[in-house]
Amino acid sequence: MLIERPVEFANEFRMRCEKCNASNWLSSEDYFRIPDAIMTCDGCRKDFNFGPAVVDLTDPEDPALSDAALPDLAWYHTTTDPEWPRTSRPLEDSLIWHLRERAHWPEEQIERYRRRHENQAIHLGTYEAAIDSMLRRIRDENEHQKSFYLHRVRLRPDVKIESGWRNENSAIAAKITKFDLTNDYIDGVRYLNAHEAIGSLSLAVIREAIESTQRISVPIPELIDQLRSRVVDQVRAFRKRVLDIRAAQVSKPPSFLETLRLRTSELPGGSPPIEPIEAYDALLEMAGFAADEYLGGLSPAARDNFLRSLQRPRPVDGDEVDLAWLYKFMGLAALLTRPCEVQKILSEQPWQTPQTG
Ligand SMILES: [Zn+2]
Repeated sequence: MLIERPVEFANEFRMRCEKCNASNWLSSEDYFRIPDAIMTCDGCRKDFNFGPAVVDLTDPEDPALSDAALPDLAWYHTTTDPEWPRTSRPLEDSLIWHLRERAHWPEEQIERYRRRHENQAIHLGTYEAAIDSMLRRIRDENEHQKSFYLHRVRLRPDVKIESGWRNENSAIAAKITKFDLTNDYIDGVRYLNAHEAIGSLSLAVIREAIESTQRISVPIPELIDQLRSRVVDQVRAFRKRVLDIRAAQVSKPPSFLETLRLRTSELPGGSPPIEPIEAYDALLEMAGFAADEYLGGLSPAARDNFLRSLQRPRPVDGDEVDLAWLYKFMGLAALLTRPCEVQKILSEQPWQTPQTG
């Protein structure tokens, strides 16, 4: 049986002082909210800049540091591909076209890029790192419409991982390829995350380092409860507010500023309607309400991260979109607030061996 490590989303980080090398605790709230990113070092009492460049390992006793313990730990990965990890990872034709026709890359450069892309190492991390990675992809890569899969990974018992860990900031880790690893006669490296699940250890490995995987589609239906009528009523009340704000807007002649905005946004199909700012405010409040309902117990930073990732309904939407959004909110929130149940359901899925080739 694989060992699960305790799950904790963005609570406290460690920052290394570059002057005296002391490791300092910093709450995730301060990490994301102190505007000038300056803290005082407990060691030398001098101020220093915190941030991704000086992130330190959160848990110096992390069991993932032990070479012998590595294959006994559960590792995680999120994808939009149920067949992960595939034998090949071809570069999309549209991207090759873009590099050739739009970016005017010479053929040799495209070929080098293609080889690196196709041979990139596979990244495995803690449960938190896998969920953070999914939230980032939903937010940054506009993948909110895609289906995601959470994979649980068992490493080969004789896996050979480089001893110690690399710092994502200063050594090749996140972009390491299969060639780099096989040249060094290893199956993978550990590296310190500076951006996702900050301060945790991830692995970059060759595909052959993976013994087997378990997979589940997320959100997990078993963890989506019936919507409580009180919650539905409250969401409908927010929508009613939005409708009222929009109706009041229509009956009002456009202000000078709105007329200007209409003129500058003239499109072939006609100008998009201008939505009143108060309508967006009401929807923002609706998201805050859902967070109070479904993200209880999370740190403020983890809550903000979740809210930034999940796209809110728009003023033009209606009850149907709101309810679909609420279901998705509840389902994805369960991944953060009920990790033990997720891990249990996932651990009951059949093991699959990656195809060789
Ligand atoms: Zn110091």
